[in-house]
Amino acid sequence: MNLDAEARGQLAEQLIWTAIDFVGLVKRNGGAEAVGEFLDDLGDDERDALPVILAAMVDDDRTPDEMLSWVTWDEHGCPLKQPRSVTPRYRTKVDCGTAGAYRRHLELGEEPDPACEQAAAAERERSQDRQRRRREACKADAA
Ligand SMILES: [Zn+2]
Repeated sequence: MNLDAEARGQLAEQLIWTAIDFVGLVKRNGGAEAVGEFLDDLGDDERDALPVILAAMVDDDRTPDEMLSWVTWDEHGCPLKQPRSVTPRYRTKVDCGTAGAYRRHLELGEEPDPACEQAAAAERERSQDRQRRRREACKADAA
């Protein structure tokens, strides 16, 4: 990858949402073909950087069993005899129409509803604005 710092930052910012979409696809068990198509649609830089973004997003304070608690089937698609010990991540219900509820839908393998999609898009927009302002402040400090 041959990108300057600014381009890398912008790519990373975009890829957070690509990564969230990818996680949703995998957790909805979109199938190998859909996963392949998703990855094929990415540019080379995006495909190279996606594992790094995904790694950065993993909560490694959780045990592997906790991280994989959403998996309820084995490699043959059969239900697991002994479900992994589940630490419910969403003990309380997050109201729909929020970015938190959007993430909950994805975590639970549900299709997000329009209100949650809209809230997530608004959060994404705010996050990108914050990121842009931080970059500009950093550049102004450096100048
Ligand atoms: Zn919702």
